[in-house]
Amino acid sequence: MTATSNTLVKRIAIFGSTGSIGTQALDVIAAHPDKFSAEILTAHSNHELLIEQALKFNPNCVVIGDEKKYMPVKDALSMTDIKVFAGEKALEEVAAMDCYDMMLAAIVGFAGLKPTMVAIENAKPIALANKETLVVAGSIIMQKAYEKRVPIIPVDSEHSAIFQCLVGEGRNRIEKIILTASGGPFFGKKPNFLVNVKRDHALQHPNWTMGAKITIDSATLMNKGLEVIEAKWLFNLEPEQIQVVIHPQSIIHSMVQFNDGSIKAQMGLPDMKLPIQYAMAYPNRIDNNFPRYDFRRNSTLSFDEPDMRTFRSLALAIDAMKKGGNMPCILNAANEIAVYAFLRNRIGFLDITEVVDRAVNNITFIENPSLDELFASDEQAREFSAGLMEL
Ligand code: NAD
Ligand code: MG
Repeated sequence: MTATSNTLVKRIAIFGSTGSIGTQALDVIAAHPDKFSAEILTAHSNHELLIEQALKFNPNCVVIGDEKKYMPVKDALSMTDIKVFAGEKALEEVAAMDCYDMMLAAIVGFAGLKPTMVAIENAKPIALANKETLVVAGSIIMQKAYEKRVPIIPVDSEHSAIFQCLVGEGRNRIEKIILTASGGPFFGKKPNFLVNVKRDHALQHPNWTMGAKITIDSATLMNKGLEVIEAKWLFNLEPEQIQVVIHPQSIIHSMVQFNDGSIKAQMGLPDMKLPIQYAMAYPNRIDNNFPRYDFRRNSTLSFDEPDMRTFRSLALAIDAMKKGGNMPCILNAANEIAVYAFLRNRIGFLDITEVVDRAVNNITFIENPSLDELFASDEQAREFSAGLMEL
């Protein structure tokens, strides 16, 4: 075996390789070919980018979600050994393959749940960006991960921060975690302003460039609500142990307060490549040339309470977490449909929260749902929400 042996290379399966997280993960892989390779790439509909990525990274296989795009992808890769699959079911099939060491779960929304579940069942470590998976099925996913001894390493910057703060703490008790939130583009605004907000304005996040859905979630604070639920499952916390604090500069990515009152924070300039590479390389840290935060040039770090009367989505998510069962699943499904409608200018900004509110108050509550029941609740909530908006 030589020093450059491939056994040192971690083979990554990127589910959602054409998205914001997926493309940044490929940047990390391209910068560290001695440490990582891309073995599976999947995309929903952007076949051109998928082809480009496949030709550059030479994975074992690719999946294009949209079956109509199978032939163009197959043709473009016909001169290579890369296997090409299409359709939703193929995502689960490739997740069960042996050709990779870690899944980066970077599909957006509920669609990421099944392939992630399959990867866990096949004992593959998960670098988790797809927070909706834990929001919908946190109890089942964490139980399965525990049974299979599969590490779930967060990619979401706040959860990566908490994860990093917990390294070396063993069984030391967490008093609470402090999830920071930038506040999004409408921090400080009131309903009389928000009622007129349009899609393009809501898509302009002050600190992060992300996919459309999470950007809208950040503007409504639903993203923070989903993250509160994600944190509950990842770190096994009671709802009372999770506090949200607005921190507009996004330098402190989150904090942990321990039983002695001591608080640890993880900080840095906002750049998703950092939590992505941390999750992929954990427990190691790897060198990079990303810009560094300079305390001498940046004097102000400020903090505030979230305005949950105006940004009701956060309150709805916290309520759903406290109620448990299929409530977070219903909340998530209604939100996905409402954000979809808002992005197509079908409903107003404040209607997003209204749709979610009605869905959580109308769909039947199930206290201990099975995975099948969660799928049924998801569908029911989608239909109900679409009906409200006449989609
Ligand atoms: P994105 O919209 O930019 O990319 C989504 C990816 O998922 C694309 O590759 C797309 O092809 C694929 N996809 C979409 N719908 C699909 C479907 N139905 N079936 C299969 N594949 C599908 O999203 P993103 O911003 O990269 O976010 C991905 C996930 O990471 C989300 O769950 C998000 O909440 C989370 N996350 C993102 C960021 C960020 O900075 N972008 C930060 C933290 C967490
Ligand atoms: Mg986040």
